[in-house]
Amino acid sequence: MTQIAITRTAHPKQTPPDDSLAFGKVFTDHMFLMNYDAGKGWHAPRIEPYGPFTLDPACCVLHYGQGIFDGLKAFRGADGQIRLFRVADHAKRLNRSAHYLCIPELDPAMVEESIRALVEVDQRWVPSKPGTSLYIRPTVIATETFLGVHPSHSYLYYLIIGPVGAYYKEGMNPVRILASDTYVRAVKGGLGAAKTMANYAASLYGAEEAQKAGYTQVLWLDAVEHRYLDEVGTMNIMLKIGDEIVTPPLNGAILAGITRDSVLTLLRAWGYRVSERPVAIDEVLAAAKAGTLEMWGTGTAAVISPVGELGYKGERYVINGGRTGALTQKLYDTIVGIQYGTTPDPYGWAT
Ligand code: PMP
Repeated sequence: MTQIAITRTAHPKQTPPDDSLAFGKVFTDHMFLMNYDAGKGWHAPRIEPYGPFTLDPACCVLHYGQGIFDGLKAFRGADGQIRLFRVADHAKRLNRSAHYLCIPELDPAMVEESIRALVEVDQRWVPSKPGTSLYIRPTVIATETFLGVHPSHSYLYYLIIGPVGAYYKEGMNPVRILASDTYVRAVKGGLGAAKTMANYAASLYGAEEAQKAGYTQVLWLDAVEHRYLDEVGTMNIMLKIGDEIVTPPLNGAILAGITRDSVLTLLRAWGYRVSERPVAIDEVLAAAKAGTLEMWGTGTAAVISPVGELGYKGERYVINGGRTGALTQKLYDTIVGIQYGTTPDPYGWAT
């Protein structure tokens, strides 16, 4: 990649106390930017002071949603070292999302380099209290000025980062989820496998309805039959039914979660029988009633999120007595240990 031009802020902000951190509210002193124009390709990689930028009101992303992002974290271990978790895989996924949205190829090595460069410039912002981390948000938006539906000829890649608080401040907390037989998130043949704005817009209404009914997240079912599990909230869904671990296959309607992959890798190494296969809601309800079910979501934000209760068609099903299962806890502890450098990392996930 051409040299990254670095312009440092003349007004560094005070970093917030680790105790006060929430998610996605505070950003660091700098951001990374790079442009794409037909003919020039990706060019002008630079780090600048964090701040607003201007967009033409007719700019493509604002009307037709041609944009993508990803989300990953850096952790400061007890040894003071900063570790990025599976950065190469996140960079590859951003490039896959670009492909689905007709955005020109982003070299994953370049994405990785931009992340390393920005985290290095703003390294004093990486918090150190256990459970806290630095959230990293690479984004690409279509910037051409036009009305009319076709892929843009110009793009902006930008990267913003910010310290975030511990997801679980007082131990893991099982969530209550509502399986929706009305609303769907994504459809096979659509954009479900891309991390694109439209999928999150599509999830808002159903999520609000679930919250009004007293649930934290929606368990998204497939868009055709409303019968098979897709994802939960903005996480992948996984179940232990008896001694089999099951998770829906990457069928085009599901995001290929990096945490999903980490969990499947660990479970296979631990000798579990792991199946990526369609999981019908009826099978889940039967296992919940029989008391043979453990269920959890996987994602960068929470790592592992145990499910304590499932609502479906007006009924409530308690899962694993509403408590965090032993395997759920073991998965969480292992991945978090790798992220903070306290557990051996045989796969080289933390760099
Ligand atoms: N599904 C959706 C829709 C998501 O937004 C996320 C979060 N990126 C995930 C699954 C989990 O992916 P990951 O483990 O890579 O964070």
